[in-house]
Amino acid sequence: MDIKQIYLDADAMLEGHFKLSSLNHSSYYLQSAKVLEDPATAKLLADALADQIRAAEIEIDTVCAPAIGGLIAGFVLAQSLGARYIFTERVDSKMALRRGFNVHRGERILICEDIITTGGSAMEARAAIESLGATVVAFASLANRGFCSREGSSKPDKIECKLPENLPLFALADFDFEMYAPDDCPLCKSGSIAVKPGSRG
Ligand code: ZN
Repeated sequence: MDIKQIYLDADAMLEGHFKLSSLNHSSYYLQSAKVLEDPATAKLLADALADQIRAAEIEIDTVCAPAIGGLIAGFVLAQSLGARYIFTERVDSKMALRRGFNVHRGERILICEDIITTGGSAMEARAAIESLGATVVAFASLANRGFCSREGSSKPDKIECKLPENLPLFALADFDFEMYAPDDCPLCKSGSIAVKPGSRG
């Protein structure tokens, strides 16, 4: 499966000058929502991710996604794994479990994002879940921006990676685009202004 081609075909790999959620700048941005607007593609990707997780023999009771980015990817992955599905969301900028969702002590949770950059939001979701007694046993994302080492890759974690070394990250592909610190960005130096695409059109 050629994940990059799937992103390109869906016009989900944008070229320009972007401010990422990690605050770094990049000339590429992945808009996973565009890939996931086709439920058949979403299922295809989720099935491939679920195959990796099963092959690693990791037992998952529940998939938890940090909203909004991870909502669709998490749901389709839970469907492929036959797992329960919940999501965390920000309340006054703090990640929390709401809407009557609960977890119990010993429940094995996988945190799923659409894209893992440094893993910051995923770690906030983990903290919210584990403060309620459940255990995060793995992370997953469709695309990996290359800061964190995914299962099956020989590339080590970069210093920016916030995910713990002792828990696996499952992802379908590394999108190893060049990223720049805001004060060291050649695009900024050429006079262009970075935009934050995120949920905007
Ligand atoms: Zn820049």
